[in-house]
Amino acid sequence: MGIIVQKFGGTSVADSEKIKNVANAVIKEKLNGNDVVVVVSAMGHTTDNLVKLSKEITSHPSEREMDVLLSTGEQISMSLLAMAINELGYKAISLNGLQAGIRTENCHMCARIVDIDTTHTVNLLKQGYVVIVAGFQGFCGKNEITTLGRGGSDTTAVALAGALKADRCDIYSDVEGVYTTDPRVVKTAKKLDMISYEEMLELARVGANVLHPRSVETAKLYNMPMRVRSSFKLDNLGTLIIGVNQMELNKPVTGLACDSTQVRVVICDVEDKPGNAARLFNLLADRNLSVDMIIQSYARINNNTNDIAFTIAKSDLEKFELIKSDINDIVKASNIHIDDDIVKVSIVGAGMIDRPGIAAKMFDVLAQKGINIKMISTSEIKISCLIEKRFANDATIALCSAFELDGAKVADVKGDLPVV
Ligand code: ASP
Ligand code: MG
Repeated sequence: MGIIVQKFGGTSVADSEKIKNVANAVIKEKLNGNDVVVVVSAMGHTTDNLVKLSKEITSHPSEREMDVLLSTGEQISMSLLAMAINELGYKAISLNGLQAGIRTENCHMCARIVDIDTTHTVNLLKQGYVVIVAGFQGFCGKNEITTLGRGGSDTTAVALAGALKADRCDIYSDVEGVYTTDPRVVKTAKKLDMISYEEMLELARVGANVLHPRSVETAKLYNMPMRVRSSFKLDNLGTLIIGVNQMELNKPVTGLACDSTQVRVVICDVEDKPGNAARLFNLLADRNLSVDMIIQSYARINNNTNDIAFTIAKSDLEKFELIKSDINDIVKASNIHIDDDIVKVSIVGAGMIDRPGIAAKMFDVLAQKGINIKMISTSEIKISCLIEKRFANDATIALCSAFELDGAKVADVKGDLPVV
């Protein structure tokens, strides 16, 4: 008998009927002879609504109080699910992050899990309970509530699976698995049977709204097999995420994602001297501002300056505005230009390693559509291009067709993609 960790996202527990449906999925797994630990997200748009509510009170809520507030969402769904399972005649008990021993870093709203004390959970499993754990939360110091960042329940589930040495971690939502791209944009996007951690990690990072990137990182660390599957079609196996995906290696590109959550910042006319980039990015790091694509232009010969451009999350723009004058003081820029009319379109595939011509093909496809590329960045298995927002769908459709990411069948997905 093994341990299976199941995670149910916000759409899967959006109302009482759906919670009852989840209770059945949990019992189905239990009847397979497994010990089951369940991680839940907050119901539907609860977390968004709680954020909205806080904004009605203050524009600068304390991060500690935000964690106290947001952690309540998952506690509603965990207790309701425990009741639904009890109602079907099975033993179930819910635990919040603290009760489940999920210790995090000492920081609010985006804490990383550092350790999980599974003693209590293991004892409860031994007593025959289904253990339901609130996703997205933990504690630091002496019982201070923390949260893991939006969408963090996936990471709770995988980290718990790792700590419990579970056989598998199943992530349930209302889609049938991981698709080659967003099926709302490309109707014939293909569902993948398998994808590697590396590819999934890149896709999650570049904006495929399926999984919290840190959950994939954690799965890779523990070598924990993960499945993304639908809570409404329990017999479908969804997409398996594992170490190596040999099946797809004969294809250069596995998936495409389009991220519209970033803005481009250009720091103009920075003096080209040692230490300027370090000072600039240290300032951003001190404010906890994550930077994605970075480009530094050639130094201009006449005045020895260059431009440094990078992207940050749109949601960090307010924080960035607060340090604009410090940036000016430090690197003496002539102008700081912010462009929010952009999206980042990325192709990802382990099969592009050592295969020349993939970037050229991507740029060609964009050129044929008359799309200008504003920034480019690459990793071993990813190529990202920043383009104007109005071309997002055109680029996605054309690239999917060029790299065979679409098929003949229309993807069977409902209007709503998972609430992450
Ligand atoms: N409820 C949290 C959110 O909406 C965490 C999660 O759903 O994973 O971000
Ligand atoms: Mg959620």
